[in-house]
Amino acid sequence: MNRIVCKFGGSSVADAVQFRKIKDILSGNQERKIIVVSAPGKRNPQEAKLTDLLYSTYDLSKKNLDFSEPWNLIKERFVEITEGLSIRSTIREELEELEIEMKNHESEVTVDFVASRGEYLCAKIMSEFLGAKFIDAFPIIQFDSLYRVTQQSIDELKDTLSDPNQLYVVPGFYGSDMQGNLKTFTRGGSDITGAILANACDCLLYENWTDVSGLLMADPRIIKDAHSISYVSYREIRELAYSGANVLHDESIAPCRAKNISIHIKNTNSPSDHGTTIGPTPSNFSRTITGIAGRKEFSMLYIEKSMMNKEKGFGRKILAILEDHDVSYELSPCGIDSMNIVVDSKSLHKVEGTVRAEIEQKMHPYKIRIFDNIALIATVGHGMVNQIGTAAKLFDALARENINVRIIDQGSSEINIIIGVNESDFEKAIIAIYREFVG
Ligand code: ASP
Repeated sequence: MNRIVCKFGGSSVADAVQFRKIKDILSGNQERKIIVVSAPGKRNPQEAKLTDLLYSTYDLSKKNLDFSEPWNLIKERFVEITEGLSIRSTIREELEELEIEMKNHESEVTVDFVASRGEYLCAKIMSEFLGAKFIDAFPIIQFDSLYRVTQQSIDELKDTLSDPNQLYVVPGFYGSDMQGNLKTFTRGGSDITGAILANACDCLLYENWTDVSGLLMADPRIIKDAHSISYVSYREIRELAYSGANVLHDESIAPCRAKNISIHIKNTNSPSDHGTTIGPTPSNFSRTITGIAGRKEFSMLYIEKSMMNKEKGFGRKILAILEDHDVSYELSPCGIDSMNIVVDSKSLHKVEGTVRAEIEQKMHPYKIRIFDNIALIATVGHGMVNQIGTAAKLFDALARENINVRIIDQGSSEINIIIGVNESDFEKAIIAIYREFVG
């Protein structure tokens, strides 16, 4: 039988009512056999996510401070869920053990272990509630430093989850590194767990259940009436997710793409809505653009040196200095005698003085300047390929709004145009582009 992996995000497991909705969703399709859960998320905007509470608890415990405030909230949430579902589970005992461990100053309990308990305990409750088999992610999902899952791990996953008639529940967000330590993915990483399982088990589909009915063409906080996207290609979603579209972890695309498994984004609170399908073929060309996404808090490092174009290895040496200080770059548009490198402001600010000094010492530039408060905006769509005049329309729209474009980058794939603007122009620029292409 073809199987479907269903990943339920934090808001979908926020309380007992949400757990019941999941049971209904699963009963609607017998192919939904592999379930991945996040830790319980917020029930209202004021509440903290359980994972954040776990991080706070760990921090306080490491500083030998009283951690009862976040810890009590964690316990209450789990107790409320188990009582709301009337299940007898061992969650209380597991929480007590963890509390003792965190109170022990000699304990070697790690931050990743503590953070992972949100997903671990949630999966235990879910498996008991659904009468499904609980499979811990720690011993079976092993990955390297780039979060690439090992072949051995894929084989093990296949074996462990091999019964096509069995319903399995697996906690998201963690596995183990090559040395056998428990490691979490980056934040939002339960999406990656779901994608890994879909890949390893050659599933028919990966359903990602959340609290919105799919992806919108732009951030609804900026474009109130943003259209929904019913289909988007893997390539487009990678660009959009990386550029800030907040719906799916960008690293969860590759495992599905490797096996042409479509991803379906669905709404737990409104399961009959169409949602967004992410798949291998290019989106249809009825619209020039598929979506717009953007992020703030970038800095631009501007380096000027006469005859830079003749100096072999100039760019490589500058990038090596950034690499040595753990600053990765986003874009690097160049002129003949100048180079601009766009980097994440936070990581640059930590080492700004040293980086500047090293560039001066090793590269003898004529000028180095750092411009902060830059926002990057990506306009993405297969419809732009070979479409004459797309860039002209985009820049016209920005000019009409008096927006100064600081950076321009169009990849050779032609499926995206990235611009850099002052942060103060960010929202205005997104509105201008959206109105130009979508209306
Ligand atoms: N619970 C983790 C987080 O809040 C992972 C996830 O929800 O995907 O980032």
